Amino acid sequence: MIGFNVAPFVGKEFTYIQEAISAEHICGDGLFTKRCNQWIEEQTGAAKALLTTSCTHATEMAALLLDIRPGEEVIMPAYTFVSTANAFVLRGAVPVFVDIRPDTMNLDESLIEAAITERTRAIVPVHYAGVACEMDVIMDLAEKYNLAVVEDAAQGVMSSYKGRPLGTIGDYGCFSFHETKNFSMGEGGALLIRDQEHVEAAEILREKGTNRSKFFRGQVDKYTWVDQGSSYLPSDMNAAYLWAQLEVAEEITKNRMASFALYRQELEPLEKQGLLDLPVIPRDCKHNAHMFYVKARDLKERTKLIAFLKEKGVQAVFHYVPLHTAPEGQRVGRFVGEDRFTTKESERILRLPMYYGLKKEQVQYVAEKVREFYGK
Ligand SMILES: *Cc1c(COP(=O)(O)O)cnc(C)c1O
Repeated sequence: MIGFNVAPFVGKEFTYIQEAISAEHICGDGLFTKRCNQWIEEQTGAAKALLTTSCTHATEMAALLLDIRPGEEVIMPAYTFVSTANAFVLRGAVPVFVDIRPDTMNLDESLIEAAITERTRAIVPVHYAGVACEMDVIMDLAEKYNLAVVEDAAQGVMSSYKGRPLGTIGDYGCFSFHETKNFSMGEGGALLIRDQEHVEAAEILREKGTNRSKFFRGQVDKYTWVDQGSSYLPSDMNAAYLWAQLEVAEEITKNRMASFALYRQELEPLEKQGLLDLPVIPRDCKHNAHMFYVKARDLKERTKLIAFLKEKGVQAVFHYVPLHTAPEGQRVGRFVGEDRFTTKESERILRLPMYYGLKKEQVQYVAEKVREFYGK
């Protein structure tokens, strides 16, 4: 059986977790959290990176920091994970969904302007599969209409757009280190803050509304409750697990990129014959091989392909019921424009096994079975 995902594990995780325990610091913001934060800052150039308990929580922090109010609107793709919308729905905001582009599955930047109203506060681009949205267009619109931009870069760690790391282009960027992502700590994430002026508020919010971070830096002589807040910092044991992978992030990415390239090479003949579609990577985007997907002709064919692969010992999965068609999305959200691609493409997409350490022979086996399904 070739599973769809295997959580990344590089070997040093046990040692580092043991070190965290030996240092008698297993709560948040210990040695390993600091290392991870610093690594992200150096890697991306963000003014500040703060490890969080999840990408979901990082996005909630962004919504709180932007002081999103009930009735305000936030524009996002209809094709995304629920957390993108929930973070703003929890603040009483209305998620305004727009259609996606069929090539990258990212929100169609040409449809954003028509969705902007007097109540719009933010745009939330989701970099699907670690492939960047058209950020120049999005940032121009944000400037023109004075909107905030929160990048859902859950899948975009180590990806970039025109040389700029994802998560650092908008006001805030959100990473995920969930078990299913390229780098993991089980459950976890990070909030990336572009501008220095917003760092202090984020630190306070993340530390239960206290100025604890300032206190530890020796900048204030007592620590106290200074604003509203919650607890968004992960245990240093989780950070220790993540640190083992960030140390070898280049190697992990190289390994995934090799699987991606091999899948493409093996399946290109089917694409040339018009039997299925493969991922499109625009020239301005450097991706991270977060996933490899194929697109069947329609839902019926995809269902058959999943069953065929399962029979051959290959686990392939699909995701995202379009949010505007989900019960909660219908209750609290609004779709602007026409659903030309969101539903159709979401019914065609199928993700093939992709993880660090996936073997060459396994990729070849999976591709062979896909070709077999199409009679090639
Ligand atoms: C995984 C993912 C999330 C949620 O990440 P968590 O760390 O599990 O909260 C949000 N958005 C997208 C696009 C994701 O892929």
